[in-house]
Amino acid sequence: MPELPDVEGYRRVLRGARGRTIRSVTVRDAGVLRGVSAAGLERGLRGRRFREPYRHGKWLLAPTDGEQVLAFHFGMTGALVLSRSDEPPHPYDRVVLALGDDLELRYRDQRKLKGLRLEDRASARRLVARLGPDAADLTRQDLTAVLEHRRARIKAVLLDQSAVAGLGNLLADEILWRARVHPARRASDLTSAEGDRVLAGTRRVLRTAVRDGRVPPRRSWLTGRRDRVHPDCPRCATPLRHRAVAGRSTYWCPHCQPEP
Ligand SMILES: [Zn+2]
Repeated sequence: MPELPDVEGYRRVLRGARGRTIRSVTVRDAGVLRGVSAAGLERGLRGRRFREPYRHGKWLLAPTDGEQVLAFHFGMTGALVLSRSDEPPHPYDRVVLALGDDLELRYRDQRKLKGLRLEDRASARRLVARLGPDAADLTRQDLTAVLEHRRARIKAVLLDQSAVAGLGNLLADEILWRARVHPARRASDLTSAEGDRVLAGTRRVLRTAVRDGRVPPRRSWLTGRRDRVHPDCPRCATPLRHRAVAGRSTYWCPHCQPEP
């Protein structure tokens, strides 16, 4: 599932489309369009060029040289691919933008849970304003404001995009394992030292994951162990525990992350 590092990877893909004229817009499956029709998408984009794209949380925004901003949310299975025009389309390519004569930007998505919106500049700003600070730019002050007064479980708070934008299920578990904080702790109960460790874990995990364009399943990471038949802690080899926390499949080490 695309989280901040994956979307950052798609931002790099989209940068490859900068300055190229969108010659045609082909909607192969309108099930990924949100708040815009296929005709409206074509009207807004054809003949335009993409400017520098930006990301906030899991949203990727592609301003054009007109008033329109193309906004992507990748849901569970979305991806953005820059292909040569002569490469055959993938069965899950839902929207194809022809760029110049030889390139295509393809929005690929199996499950179509989210997709593409076409916003004007002001509504694109409002879209981002509803989100919390981007997890990659999180400051200690941001985190303090997010944690205090919240009785929800820390994992639920990290997943709440209006609190912190960009974290998904894998990142939240990885960060809490690094911070040695149990995922079911109440956010407001975290000590200052635990808050410091959550922030340090967020920065460290994101630095590596953004470079990789995904949450890497390294053996030294919780993410690299969670899909094993008998997952154990990379730090202390204790068998990991697993249950739903905040409605999501959650792994933690009962030794490193003691129960509240
Ligand atoms: Zn452990």
